[in-house]
Amino acid sequence: MKRSRTSKAWMQEHVSDQFVKRANKEGYRSRAAYKLMELDERDKLIRPGMTVVDLGAAPGSWSQVVVERLKGSGRVIALDLLEMQGLPGVEFIRGDFTEAEILARLEELLQDSPVDLVISDMAPNMSGVASIDQARAMYLAELSLDFAWQWLKPQGNFLVKVFIGSGFDELVRTMKPEFNKVVIRKPKASRDRSAETYLLGLGRRQAGV
Ligand code: SAM
Repeated sequence: MKRSRTSKAWMQEHVSDQFVKRANKEGYRSRAAYKLMELDERDKLIRPGMTVVDLGAAPGSWSQVVVERLKGSGRVIALDLLEMQGLPGVEFIRGDFTEAEILARLEELLQDSPVDLVISDMAPNMSGVASIDQARAMYLAELSLDFAWQWLKPQGNFLVKVFIGSGFDELVRTMKPEFNKVVIRKPKASRDRSAETYLLGLGRRQAGV
């Protein structure tokens, strides 16, 4: 298939991107690793001994960062629609997080043990129709928030990718009473031209499970 001008431009930008170069050199599966590293350095999200759920985990760079920071103590459960190459220290579920059966598999793995940190970098396949894409992205963010409410320990944290647009302010309003603090973060590795941003709920106010 002949490449369009847009895909050529994307590829050129991708190969010259400093985070792509760093990820290749440092052995991370994608440039997204540097988003989580920056967020963690600022907000101290990951500590040894924690149980972390990584939603939308493939190809696995966030899970790689979590495993490193757990230093051999703790648990990582990762989930994605796509297959993910195995990572030592990561339990992986392949499936659609919006399906009840997949959620049940995740909950079964947790076995009533609450979670310290839920991270969701899920993003829907883009249709190109802005209103549809925004609605799909918000739906994934809301479902991950429901999961975090259900499973986070008191004082647990929740990180979710969202896109600025319809439903964003409402999601922030919904999160505020549930956490001690809700902040909006745009790490350097998140491209300026992207509406992508991250919402961080710090300190779950009540017990989940
Ligand atoms: N954080 C990942 C990393 O560091 O490698 C990158 C995640 S990528 C931006 C978004 C992922 O969300 C994709 O792998 C996609 O398959 C996944 N995803 C989108 N919708 C999903 C769904 N309904 N259930 C599970 N995963 C989903």
